[in-house]
Amino acid sequence: MQAGAGKTTRRELLTAIGMMGGTFALYQAMTTMGHAAETQFAGPPNLKGARPGASVIVLGAGLAGMLAAFELRKAGYKVRILEYQARAGGRNWSLYGGDTYTELGGATQKVGFAPGNYLNPGPWRIPHHHRTLLHYCKQFGVALEPFIQFNHNAFVHHADAFGGRPVHFREAAADFEGGVAELLGKAIDQKALDQEIKAEDKEMLLEALRGWGMLDQDMKYARNLRSAEHRGYERPPGGGVNGAPIPSNIFDFHDVLASQVWKNMAFFMNHEMQTTMFQPVGGMGMIGKAFARQVEPLITHNAKVTKIFQDRSGVKVTYKDTSTGAVSDAHADFCVCTIPLGVLNQIDKNLSPKLQAAIQAVPYSNSVKIGLEMRRRFWEEDYSIYGGHSFTSQDISLISYPNNHLFGDGPAVLLGAFASGLGGYRLAGMTPEQRIETALAQGSIFHPDSYRKEFMNGASVAWNRVPWTLGCCARWNEDTRKEHYQTLVAVDDRVVLAGEHASYVGCWMEGALLSSIDAITRLHARALEA
Ligand SMILES: Cc1cc2nc3c(=O)[nH]c(=O)nc-3n(C[C@H](O)[C@H](O)[C@H](O)COP(=O)(O)OP(=O)(O)OC[C@H]3O[C@@H](n4cnc5c(N)ncnc54)[C@H](O)[C@@H]3O)c2cc1C
Repeated sequence: MQAGAGKTTRRELLTAIGMMGGTFALYQAMTTMGHAAETQFAGPPNLKGARPGASVIVLGAGLAGMLAAFELRKAGYKVRILEYQARAGGRNWSLYGGDTYTELGGATQKVGFAPGNYLNPGPWRIPHHHRTLLHYCKQFGVALEPFIQFNHNAFVHHADAFGGRPVHFREAAADFEGGVAELLGKAIDQKALDQEIKAEDKEMLLEALRGWGMLDQDMKYARNLRSAEHRGYERPPGGGVNGAPIPSNIFDFHDVLASQVWKNMAFFMNHEMQTTMFQPVGGMGMIGKAFARQVEPLITHNAKVTKIFQDRSGVKVTYKDTSTGAVSDAHADFCVCTIPLGVLNQIDKNLSPKLQAAIQAVPYSNSVKIGLEMRRRFWEEDYSIYGGHSFTSQDISLISYPNNHLFGDGPAVLLGAFASGLGGYRLAGMTPEQRIETALAQGSIFHPDSYRKEFMNGASVAWNRVPWTLGCCARWNEDTRKEHYQTLVAVDDRVVLAGEHASYVGCWMEGALLSSIDAITRLHARALEA
């Protein structure tokens, strides 16, 4: 459909459908028109007709809580937010030079990064299809820049492959594809797949294998200029006398398999990990700050909620001022609670037994991030690595190179670990100093000459030691989803839960926002019934 005089534009049509049928109809229409298959976001919520004077108390000033407050206030509700921390944003957070952070167990770190440098302990990348987050980033003036997710020139390392030596992703991935293509070609040639594939498809598949796997005319993946086009050269093409390129040796297929490069290749195909990805200019915490600018007057900081009580007349929330110790009550008609489940589980509350059971049923994952400030960008200057990740089988799991200020002079922070599972727990069990030492020892595998030499200082966050989440993110499984999810998201008389844990986009800011929109839309309907 073309935009123009006398014609209805696509946007006008969608707006009309949205007004008539609500967000679900709009979403369906967009999908039918070939749009939005990547997101359930259909625009900000439509909360018309709030009763004058009706009030909502929001617990937690993370993104879910602040969006709920922003939209409910816009709809006419009297809104107040109680937030445990002195800062808004929740898991949306960046640590800068001068910040201090105290984890459970009492260890305090004072961050020593140079001005402008930061560690994003939690969220760090935004997929292009997280339309809700992108929508509000635009509305609230958050500048975004590309997050370099995929770097062929970064490394993969596995202790059991290549004698423990890292190799470029490009080389291992090309050899994996070439090796698989050659084997599949052989299976076809030996008629092993004749029952599985039609004759005309066989020809097309052979052609695809030749092209995708860089096979030669004999259907072999070999050391030649064809394989070098994917995996790189021993001597790259140049000018003049020695301009002719020399191909590189291909790896032993056993090592290629043992490197588990296929895991990294599959990781990049994961829908949430596909390019294009973004990050805010200046640190992920810029998003929390921008949301906070919209609702700051509504927030009571240092307010640790200790009790949630609802009855026919409304909701009473008891909270403790963490700086003075004073205990107070706050009253409202309704409540949106975005407190992470592990913390909420420890709060005294009279929610329905089914909801209490749901809150208890969902464990949280752990992860550890470590930022290492280096004197110079040796990964750029010495290795031509600009952003992206080098993966390892060691506990640190990966190191990730900064995506901002490329080619810059002076110190820069690289992510020295993003560990989960066992590795995450091992790092979390260490002191912050031991974590840095481990990150330096393990990360040196990629950059042995520079890693320790250029190191200046570091900071780490172990998420199971974060007092206000007690973990990284909610970990649903099929059984808990079946038994508890619908209860967890249902309005429980006057209280509704929201947050990443109340979504199918778990551990993404998008999930927190989509959950928030859904929760307040249903709470609004409930309020209109009251
Ligand atoms: C390591 C890590 C990596 C991640 N990577 C990404 C990523 O790359 N991209 C992405 O989009 N998402 C990522 N996420 C997920 C993202 O951070 C979350 O989904 C999102 O920020 C959750 O928002 P929320 O509002 O649901 O919860 P939160 O941000 O946790 O907000 C909850 C709020 O409740 C407050 N609170 C807690 N207890 C109390 C209490 N007793 N009283 C009052 N207030 C209380 C907390 O202080 C907090 O402010 C990552 C998360 C982690 C931990």
